[in-house]
Amino acid sequence: MTQLTFDVVVVGAGPAGSTTAREAASRGASVLLLERAKFPRDKPCGGGVTIRCANLLPFSIEPVVEDVVTGARLKIGNGREVVRDSDRVLTYMTQRRRLDAFLVEQAQAAGAEFRDGEAVTTVERVPGGTYEVGTKGGTSVSARVIIGADGANGVVGNRLGYEAAATAAVALEGNVNYPEGVPPRWQHRVALHFGDYPGGYGWVFPKGDHVNVGVGGWKDAAGTDVREMLAHLCEVYGFQLSDLTNLRGHHLPMQRSGMVMAAGGSAVVGDAAGLVDPLSGEGIYAALASGTAIGPVIEDYLAGRVHSLSPYQAALEDSLLREVHTSTALMDIFHAYPAPFIWMMQHVGPFWRSSVDLIRGEATYMDLTERLGPLGPALLGPTASLGRTVTRLRGKRGDRGRRAADARG
Ligand SMILES: Cc1cc2nc3c(=O)[nH]c(=O)nc-3n(C[C@H](O)[C@H](O)[C@H](O)COP(=O)(O)OP(=O)(O)OC[C@H]3O[C@@H](n4cnc5c(N)ncnc54)[C@H](O)[C@@H]3O)c2cc1C
Repeated sequence: MTQLTFDVVVVGAGPAGSTTAREAASRGASVLLLERAKFPRDKPCGGGVTIRCANLLPFSIEPVVEDVVTGARLKIGNGREVVRDSDRVLTYMTQRRRLDAFLVEQAQAAGAEFRDGEAVTTVERVPGGTYEVGTKGGTSVSARVIIGADGANGVVGNRLGYEAAATAAVALEGNVNYPEGVPPRWQHRVALHFGDYPGGYGWVFPKGDHVNVGVGGWKDAAGTDVREMLAHLCEVYGFQLSDLTNLRGHHLPMQRSGMVMAAGGSAVVGDAAGLVDPLSGEGIYAALASGTAIGPVIEDYLAGRVHSLSPYQAALEDSLLREVHTSTALMDIFHAYPAPFIWMMQHVGPFWRSSVDLIRGEATYMDLTERLGPLGPALLGPTASLGRTVTRLRGKRGDRGRRAADARG
């Protein structure tokens, strides 16, 4: 048994955990970053890092970028594919195996200690306000601060009594390999396919020697399943499901209203806090944003300037969570009436440019609703309720799934 003492222990070395570890270590805290897997490890993810996301980091991720995306191929159902390009970069494409290892290196460079192959199994708050963490390998750590960055249904939140995030959405993806290089058709543009995936969409993302093909959507959609949806997407783009390698799926954890994300010297960040963007499914942005937001709060807590990590929650409520709530409302509207939105993205210049602004972080969801005029934000709630009702009354979740199945004969 190895007994260690640190100011901060961070559980999970995805983007949320490595960012938290880097932020805390760079402020002078002694930090231990514990990770269950042996690094480098892969993780189910499209590996799309939007510009708004990359801009959160104080360094470039260029060493792990495999493609730079400046356009999109947009398609709804059996409709014509429309290509939209931008003179601005939209998204970097990477592989999580490479990105996560790179982010851990930055945390180590800031002074954090990293131990992989260490699955945390026990977490306990002990009298005096410290935390005792035990790993499967027999390491025991005592720390004043513990951060759960261990993904959906992680052990930290679970053991400390945090409410689990909702896991109503799920995504499945795999790779089509091109050892000689990705064909020009797939380079520098993402393909996004809408309309046939209840609560989500399908994508083709370009990488260095493969394309990543995936679908996400509501997991309880009647009459369909995510594997069938992926098979359908493959047909649309001329791939064979059987050609996909590394087929992997996972939940997309979402916030429940009123979720607590910090108490005493503990907090949850990234997927462990259910911070995935409901409309887009983007989760790396929130992982970095929450890891960044908690850094100064950890510093204040260790210095005795605040008595809990709760200011972290307050900071997110004023920023990221407002965006998550607006995104939820837009998702309800979008999935009730997807066609007009996609048509506008395909054919209306200002609508496409607004989408580019959003992806680049030059506008927020709140800004976009305000661009609709003074009534935009006020109408959002009622329109979203209407969207939810329409979706329910049409039994759309089930119908869309059945249509997708019918289309495949
Ligand atoms: C199929 C799919 C495609 C996606 N595509 C995109 C995309 O293109 N762009 C995007 O922005 N988002 C995407 N997302 C969402 C994104 O992957 C997540 O939101 C993001 O990984 C969250 O980061 P995180 O650091 O919070 O958690 P994770 O990346 O899940 O990291 C958690 C870490 O904790 C470790 N861990 C868990 N339990 C323990 C334990 N007991 N002890 C020690 N370590 C533990 C895990 O091994 C893991 O390394 C996608 C999700 C899915 C499922």
